[in-house]
Amino acid sequence: MNLLHKNDRPGEYPPSLYAQTRDPTPAFPALEGEVRADVCVIGGGYTGLSAALHLAEAGRRVVLLEAHRVGFGASGRNGGQLGSGQRLEVDELERMAGREAARRLWDLAEAAKALTRDLAARAGVPVTDGIAHAFRTRAEFDHARGLIDRLARDYGYDRIEALDREAFRALVPSDAYVAGELDRGAGHLHPLNLALGIARLADAAGTAIHERAEVVAVVHGTATTPTVVQTRRGRVLCDQLILAANGYLGDLEPKVAARVMPINNFIVATEPLGPRAAEVLTRPIGVHDTKFVVNYWRLDPEGRLIFGGGENVSYRFPADIFAKVRKPLLQIYPTLADVKLTHAWGGTLAITMNRMPCFIRPAPNCLSASGYSGHGLALACLAGKLMANAIQGQSEGFDAMAALPQPPFPGGAMLRWPLLVAGMSWYALRDRLGV
Ligand SMILES: Cc1cc2nc3c(=O)[nH]c(=O)nc-3n(C[C@H](O)[C@H](O)[C@H](O)COP(=O)(O)OP(=O)(O)OC[C@H]3O[C@@H](n4cnc5c(N)ncnc54)[C@H](O)[C@@H]3O)c2cc1C
Repeated sequence: MNLLHKNDRPGEYPPSLYAQTRDPTPAFPALEGEVRADVCVIGGGYTGLSAALHLAEAGRRVVLLEAHRVGFGASGRNGGQLGSGQRLEVDELERMAGREAARRLWDLAEAAKALTRDLAARAGVPVTDGIAHAFRTRAEFDHARGLIDRLARDYGYDRIEALDREAFRALVPSDAYVAGELDRGAGHLHPLNLALGIARLADAAGTAIHERAEVVAVVHGTATTPTVVQTRRGRVLCDQLILAANGYLGDLEPKVAARVMPINNFIVATEPLGPRAAEVLTRPIGVHDTKFVVNYWRLDPEGRLIFGGGENVSYRFPADIFAKVRKPLLQIYPTLADVKLTHAWGGTLAITMNRMPCFIRPAPNCLSASGYSGHGLALACLAGKLMANAIQGQSEGFDAMAALPQPPFPGGAMLRWPLLVAGMSWYALRDRLGV
C-alpha cells in the first residue's frame, strides 16, 4: 500500500493552512544521474531532515531524497503539539520494559523536546508553551493525578498541574470534559515551518536535498559493494542508508512494513475568531482529549482555531473533510456552529502494535525509525539525531529504543489493514457510546 500518490497532487503541499502560511524556502532540485554519498536518507520529514542535518554537521556527505516536497508528509500537516514523554504513559512503560527502561525513555523524550525547541529556535519558529489534556471521566482524572505525583517523585518532572472541573473550564470553556491537566513544559508550533526550517539548516550544513525524487527501489550493500538507491531519473550509491519514510514507506522495506501501519487523520482551520477566541480557549495553549479517535486543537497567533479529529476507515481521504471534522468540533464547542471553516486537510501518520516507535536495523548498513503513533513531533526530530549518532558509532540512544518490543501486526503487511478497520470501528463505537 503506497500512500505517496493516493490523496495528494504530485510535488505539491496539501491545501492546508500551514502551506498557505509557510516561511519562504527555496525548492530543491530533482535528482538526475548517479551520485555518491556516505549516507543517503529517504524521506524529508522531521526524521530524515534531522538525521541529514546532524550528519552533515558532523562532516558526512549526505544526500536526502524526498518524493514530493520537504515537509510534504505528516511533518507538514500535524497538530503542532510538542508533547512531553512517550506515546505510552510511564506506568504502561514500567509494565512493558521495567522501571529503569521507563526512566531512560522519559529522559530521551525530554531530550527530544529540548532538541526540537533548539531546532525551532535556530529555524526562527516560535513555540507557545502549554498543552492541556482533557478528561471525559473521573476515573481518567484520578489516574492522571496519580501519574502527576509519580512523575514529580520518580522522574523529576513537576511541570504538570491537575485542574478540577471549574479550573479546567476556566481555561477550556466546554461542557464536554469533567477535568483536565496542564503541562507547562509542553508547547505548540507551526509544524510545516519547523520542517522547512530544519531543511534550510540541513541545506546550509551541506546536505544535498532533492525534492520530487521518489525512491522506487533499494538494493542493500555488502561488505564490498555500496547500497544502491534508485529514483525514476537517478540513483545514489551510499555506504549507509536511513529510512525515514514513516507512513508513506509502502513496500520499500518489508521488515518495517510488517510492524508499522499507516493511518489517516484530519484537521480543519477556522477564520480568525477575534474576541470569540475566548469561547474556545482563554489562554493560547494546545489541547487534546482522551478519545481513542483523539480530538486536538489550539489557536494560532492570528486567533484561528486549528482542530483535528474524526475517524476514517479507508486509505482514501473522505470527499468532505470539512463535514467530517466539523462534527467532533461542534460536539465540544456547539456555539461555533456559525463559524466559517477555511481550510481542511488530511495527513498520513504511522502506528505500531504497542504504540511505541519502531527503531530497527533492517540490513547491516541500514537504519530505520518510524511509527510514532501520533506522538512524533519531538521524537522524530530526536530519532533523526539518534540515527546520525549511531552511524558515527554512538548507538546507545538508538539501541535503547530498538530494544523495545516490536511485534509485527497479525497477518503482517497484508492483513494489518482489515484488522485495523475492525479495531477502529470498535473503538470509534466505544467513543460514541462514551465508554
Ligand atoms: C493529521 C496529523 C496530526 C498529527 N498531530 C501530531 C501532534 O500534534 N503532535 C505530535 O507529536 N505528532 C503528531 N502527528 C504525528 C507526527 O506528525 C509524525 O509522527 C511525524 O511528523 C513523523 O515524521 P517523519 O519524518 O517520520 O514522517 P513524515 O513527515 O511523514 O515524512 C516522511 C516523508 O518521506 C517521504 N517519502 C516516503 N516514501 C518515499 C520514497 N519512496 N521516496 C522518497 N521520499 C519518500 C514522504 O513524502 C514524506 O515527506 C500527527 C500526524 C498527522 C498526520
